[in-house]
Amino acid sequence: MRQKTKLIHGGISTDPHTGAVSIPIYQVSTYKQEGVGGHKGFEYSRTGNPTRHALEELIKDLEGGTRGFAFGSGMAAITAVVMLFNSGDHIILTDDVYGGTFRVMTKVLNRFGIESTFVDTSNLENITNTIKPNTKAIYLETPTNPLLKITDIEAAAKIAKEHNLLTIVDNTFSTPYWQTPIAQGADIVLHSATKYIGGHSDVVAGLVVVNDEKLGEDLHFVQNSTGGVLGPQDSWLLIRGIKTLGVRMEETETNTKAIVHFLEGHPAVKKVFYPGLETHPNYEIAKKQAKGFGGMVSFDVGSAEAADKLLAKIHYFTLAESLGAVESLISVPARMTHASIPQERRAELGITDGLVRISVGIEDVEDLLEDLQQALEN
Ligand SMILES: *Cc1c(COP(=O)(O)O)cnc(C)c1O
Repeated sequence: MRQKTKLIHGGISTDPHTGAVSIPIYQVSTYKQEGVGGHKGFEYSRTGNPTRHALEELIKDLEGGTRGFAFGSGMAAITAVVMLFNSGDHIILTDDVYGGTFRVMTKVLNRFGIESTFVDTSNLENITNTIKPNTKAIYLETPTNPLLKITDIEAAAKIAKEHNLLTIVDNTFSTPYWQTPIAQGADIVLHSATKYIGGHSDVVAGLVVVNDEKLGEDLHFVQNSTGGVLGPQDSWLLIRGIKTLGVRMEETETNTKAIVHFLEGHPAVKKVFYPGLETHPNYEIAKKQAKGFGGMVSFDVGSAEAADKLLAKIHYFTLAESLGAVESLISVPARMTHASIPQERRAELGITDGLVRISVGIEDVEDLLEDLQQALEN
């Protein structure tokens, strides 16, 4: 089955009991048992719910793993994955991971003895040099936010295997439509499904896929024990969103290419960050490991003042955090998504005050281009 067909026919696409072609929302907490332990596969909805199960089967198929899991948010998914480890274990992470990932690792999970080191994983030597005797995993985000850095998943997973470490990939920006990390050697793939997978800015959710039976059992144990599960209504919304993931990603890609081309040629734009540009330092790796470059673009307009002028004039790009939905969004990372990162650290990472990030939606690209054109005029 090809990927667009899988979006529609993967997982459990028809309700086995009624033939309904949309999996019903099983709004239920518990299930009748015929005798003690005599149930039809479901006992209690924290442990398993048919709507959530259909979603979990679908994301498993899309990522090509052995088992899928749905959580109440991307952060709940990430936290559950890190709970597979023990006090005293060390994890190496990409330095410009999602801010919430940095926060949970350094302010919450560190209190339970999970150690973390953040390095620029786009340079593989940094990974090798950071491995310690207690290192247990490499956690990658690629492309990253907001500078769209790329890590070679296959090469990083190879280093991980050599040292007996797990490879975990946050695949939120690419989605399985463009990039399937398990096929490149990753053990665990996770998502903020709040973004492209849901796709309509109407649900907060997280998904995980593992590529090993034992890891699947262990993660189900954590999911059931800690309880951060996704409800049936939101599971259904994700299944619905996934059906159009392919057409949304294709349309986003087309719009993004045109916008990147426009920004590259505009005198008010100092620099454009996009993995689909041949001038991007890891363009070849991006091209090798993903079928599309995605809809996230950052560009530098030189100063906070210039960024504010742009924001004051722009119409169709909504000023908001988040990304990956049908509507185009715009943000200033230094003062929004990355405001919690200290100024010096931001400077080190290259997140300047004039950096503007856009998440390209699926509006008519002519409207988006005209809008950027008038907003960049001074
Ligand atoms: C948003 C996001 C998260 C966190 O997900 P939530 O659904 O907001 O909890 C994690 N990783 C990336 C890359 C994200 O963009």
